[in-house]
Amino acid sequence: MTAAIATEGLTKSYGSLKALDNVSLNIEPGELFGLIGPDGAGKSTLHRILATLLKPDAGIATVLGLDVVRDYHQLRDRIGYMPERFSLYQDMTVMENLRFFASLFGVNISDSYPLIAPVFRQLAKFPDRMAGKLSGGMKQKLALSCALIHRPEILLLDEPTTGVDAVSRSEFWDMLGSLREKGITIIVSTSYMDEATRCGRIAVIDKGRVLAAGTPDALTRHMRGRLYDAVASDMFGLLTCLRKMPEIIDCYTFGSTLHLNTTDRFDPAWTIGRLKAEGIADARIFPATPEIEDIFIQLTRDDEK
Ligand code: ADP
Ligand code: MG
Repeated sequence: MTAAIATEGLTKSYGSLKALDNVSLNIEPGELFGLIGPDGAGKSTLHRILATLLKPDAGIATVLGLDVVRDYHQLRDRIGYMPERFSLYQDMTVMENLRFFASLFGVNISDSYPLIAPVFRQLAKFPDRMAGKLSGGMKQKLALSCALIHRPEILLLDEPTTGVDAVSRSEFWDMLGSLREKGITIIVSTSYMDEATRCGRIAVIDKGRVLAAGTPDALTRHMRGRLYDAVASDMFGLLTCLRKMPEIIDCYTFGSTLHLNTTDRFDPAWTIGRLKAEGIADARIFPATPEIEDIFIQLTRDDEK
């Protein structure tokens, strides 16, 4: 089977800064594939290259078996791209935006409606509202509808959920799930690590490099060390003490707790005793399940070594 997207040694620099460094990825048809990484990781650069809008310095990228540089013209009709700060026309209405994007691709909205209906349904209730007057979640749905208007086979979504409220984020991921069921291959980037679990497979990227790729489950299963949660009323004191202990490989803030990655020699009861001796009387330590953020921290630490 031909990969929907394949990159080999993809590299792109801006001056002396390598935005993408030797990126090789294979994405199969029908995958919902996540690019997970912090600001500056290279997610948008990769999206722009796949969307045929930016040329790589080295390496190759094919989408649907076509080369993004040589065959860009053929590809543009087959790719839907929603850039990071999506470009709706704020002073045009909902329907005017949709019609505009339809006219760019020479398609009829009615032909595309079956595909976009689940995304557009709520927006259809106020077709004459200015795009600029929509809520963040609604803007995002309109932008997705516009990106889908020409019924693309590949959908590239660059941080579509950034700055959108939690409910709209969750709805948005539900929609991506249903688009995937229609056979569309989706590449979506996010800096929200928790969104990784909504993807079939992910690539963890940082500083232009793919640190790991696989299913979210497989990546978290392969975390090295034993993970624990730790809490105390003096969280800063707790962090300072734990960081000095040799059987603790890594200790970092994780939501309202600390995560400890430990060697086999780590003993919670013994550690609590030692913390008491150091003046931290109310520490609690219990086993934790690794999440993508833990994996990310481990991978970036490995990378710095
Ligand atoms: P992300 O989308 O993951 O935040 P980007 O692909 O936007 O990452 O950026 C990767 C790196 O390349 C960052 O360090 C960014 O500052 C740099 N960069 C991106 N675009 C440009 C540009 N047009 N000119 C110079 N540097 C850029
Ligand atoms: Mg970006």
